[in-house]
Amino acid sequence: MNKETRDISTLILNRRFLREDAHGSISMPIYSGAAFEFDTAEEMEDAFLGKSGKHTYSRISNPTVEAFENRIQQITGAAHVLAVSSGMAAISNVFMTVAYAGSNIVTSAHLFGNTFSLFLFTLKAFGVEARFCNLLDKNDVAKNIDDKTCAVFTEIITNPHMEVADLKALAEVAHSKKVPLIVDSTIIPWPVFEAQKFGVDLEVVSGTKYISGGATSIGGLILDYHSFDWSNSPRLNILAQQAGKKAFTVKLRTEISRNLGAYMSPHTAYLQSLGLETMDLRFKRASETCKKLAKFLQTLPEIKSVQYTGLPDNPFYKISCEQFGEYPGAMLTFNLQDQAACYSFINRLKVIRRATNLFDNKSLIIHPLSTIYGTLSDEYKKMVEVPADMLRLSVGLENVEDLKEDLLQALNKKR
Ligand SMILES: *Cc1c(COP(=O)(O)O)cnc(C)c1O
Repeated sequence: MNKETRDISTLILNRRFLREDAHGSISMPIYSGAAFEFDTAEEMEDAFLGKSGKHTYSRISNPTVEAFENRIQQITGAAHVLAVSSGMAAISNVFMTVAYAGSNIVTSAHLFGNTFSLFLFTLKAFGVEARFCNLLDKNDVAKNIDDKTCAVFTEIITNPHMEVADLKALAEVAHSKKVPLIVDSTIIPWPVFEAQKFGVDLEVVSGTKYISGGATSIGGLILDYHSFDWSNSPRLNILAQQAGKKAFTVKLRTEISRNLGAYMSPHTAYLQSLGLETMDLRFKRASETCKKLAKFLQTLPEIKSVQYTGLPDNPFYKISCEQFGEYPGAMLTFNLQDQAACYSFINRLKVIRRATNLFDNKSLIIHPLSTIYGTLSDEYKKMVEVPADMLRLSVGLENVEDLKEDLLQALNKKR
């Protein structure tokens, strides 16, 4: 095989795992036990000090999870990958590693609901401030960064606002102030999105979505490109003197991940590794269908507006093409007359399923304001700016014509 091949499926499917399996298993077996045994005390010491690369305890590392991490590393070119138990575990582990009391995170209020809540409520109790600004405006970002800023954070396409910040511009502003750029890239998988090309330092992903395939399991990933110089970070500067650009990885692996105890389970790693094998295929099919549906919805007078950054008349079309290519994923949002119209539309659907989650094989619909953001107070609801007349559709693998028909009949229309 050509090692330089860009084909992600070939790369993934051809990857061998580290040690030969006693039975010649073609898939990485699930090593679901908690602990690993050693012949001698000396070997045990080496393993615990990280000298032999051997596994000791499955909260810290595990062969099945490691094989999954290695596959991700190979297809992304990341310097280090840590697999954890959810997308939220990925985000919280990252911020437990970079943030400190008195520090701030420069981000936007247009965030996935739990990320918003983590920044605004959970981290606040530890003295970390969330600075919500307009990430589409470089000057506003620059103005909000100061010497206590631990990171600039964005989702690559905001969920559910469907905004796309210029990542190169964000990286430039952040780096000029010696601050890392951290992105949540859940919405567009690799290699369609290559974080490193845009100056991203750390990447977090909810593996629950595209990677798991068919929504088999909850998982998350943290990718470190070892591109950032941490010597100005009050949290990591001492470590940076010994570990250099690996400082974040070292802190995360040897302290934070162990102490928080959210390492991925071996069974999840098995499922997500299997999902990874068909990810490219599923992504292409689902995003092609999504683009067709976005265009179709635009032709219907009952639909007030459609947000999909792959539509040429979308305000983010150009930057979206630059960063993600022609097919920016399988999620779109659209607006009906009001919330009541959204509810009756949802209730009439027969093919599209009423559920949260993204990038299942099944198409899923949700009314975000009343569900994902439902428990927020009115004040915070206003802050997140999720409209009451908006629905979010995650497009699956069904036939596009069947999906069109379902959308039409839910509007009480016939072909
Ligand atoms: C789903 C999602 C998350 C959280 O992931 P979980 O695996 O559910 O914890 C974070 N960010 C984005 C953009 C998401 O869509």
